[in-house]
Amino acid sequence: MPEVKILRKWVHDPEQHRMEVALSRGYYQAARQALTEMKPDEIINLVRDSGVRGRGGAGASCGMKWGFMPKEPTPQRPNYLICNCDESEPGTFSNRELVEYDPHQLIEAIVISAYALRVRTALIYCRGEFLFGYERLNEAVQEARERGFVGEKIFGTDFSLDIIVHRGAGAYICGEETALMDSLEGKRGHPRAKPPFPANVGLYGMPTTINNVETLCNIPHLINHGLEWFWSMGTAGAPPEEPQARANWIKSLGTRKSTGTKILSVSGHVKRPGNYEVVMGTSLRELIYDVCGGICGDHDLKAVIPGGSSMPMIPKPIAMDVQMAFETLQAAGTALGSGGVIVFDDQTDIPQVCLAIARFYKNESCGKCVPCRIGTDWIYKLIQRIVTGQGRMEDIELIRDVCINLGGERMMDSRSYCPLGDAAAWPIIWGGLKYFQHEFEHYIRYRRSPVGAEPALVGAH
Ligand code: SF4
Repeated sequence: MPEVKILRKWVHDPEQHRMEVALSRGYYQAARQALTEMKPDEIINLVRDSGVRGRGGAGASCGMKWGFMPKEPTPQRPNYLICNCDESEPGTFSNRELVEYDPHQLIEAIVISAYALRVRTALIYCRGEFLFGYERLNEAVQEARERGFVGEKIFGTDFSLDIIVHRGAGAYICGEETALMDSLEGKRGHPRAKPPFPANVGLYGMPTTINNVETLCNIPHLINHGLEWFWSMGTAGAPPEEPQARANWIKSLGTRKSTGTKILSVSGHVKRPGNYEVVMGTSLRELIYDVCGGICGDHDLKAVIPGGSSMPMIPKPIAMDVQMAFETLQAAGTALGSGGVIVFDDQTDIPQVCLAIARFYKNESCGKCVPCRIGTDWIYKLIQRIVTGQGRMEDIELIRDVCINLGGERMMDSRSYCPLGDAAAWPIIWGGLKYFQHEFEHYIRYRRSPVGAEPALVGAH
């Protein structure tokens, strides 16, 4: 079986959230080693050389992000670390499991990361709906404080850290790092213009690094097991012996290859949905048929969204051969995103899937910029018109036009103020319409679903 258990090793133990249990399993040894034996820059270099990339969606090199932070913060201009636990991408539920059942893994990771980044105050931004996870995190921080793992002079060193857990109010856009910072500052969660980037002007105008829960949870394992172990998992293969070639190989990891594992949240028409941790590069075929037991009712596979609802779906012929890694999914015209794998069987009505996705982004658009505010609503209304039997053939081109043109104010290609504009347009134009335009045409021509279902009563939304 391609499933591995590193970050998820203990999540099924109902006692794992307790400090004594975590300590009995070697937790906080990596933090002790990092703080007492390693220099901050050594940790930053280790993370950079590992090639670990952000697991929350964008896939940016974690080490590169860390490298932008000031090395000598002052009391007037402190560094901040924010752990992004907003996880609001539909189809994604891996962070939630990690914070609910193994919060000390994250707390230890934050202690190490904060030390490396010269941070004295770290914040965990927890999604509003994650009440249980929020409570678990608060309990874990309190336990860590009582043990001296958080607070003043941790492990007898000069390093001090406070961790604050903050619960959002439940908005998709607050997963976007600049909107998240606005929300943390007590404002309405609106994205900010970039540049300046958070490493320069972030929370309260101070240098800030924002990392996803799963990304950070890799750090203690990296300290414990080292680079070779981390490299051995993924698509990069073995490093060359020759020093210059090896240096070039390491340099390419953070942008061109995928190292380590990824927790994939599998939902939809599979027999065993759930979270699964696999080595980067595991094939989608193995994930669906070996790990998740195949398609429900032994139906055929129709399409898969591999990285959360904002990523384009891929049809069966592509999905069966693709590997779950950053570069391979990009080559297949989609992306690993947040790792939310949504599987559709051959009975799925793709225009209805697109309608549900379009409705979500229409509702979650914050309204700050015109292309997204107008475009998301327009796309939703056009698809709704089609699936309720009122569509015209020219509506298909109109949907495309809204995504890529919109009177010169296109939603895509970073022309919207933040990535939500792309997120709303990609799954429709590069997924639904690209591979299943014939289903939209069927709706328009025959005024009924291409898979035989009655036209859905969606007009009320
Ligand atoms: Fe708001 Fe959408 Fe513009 Fe982002 S793209 S700022 S979510 S309106």
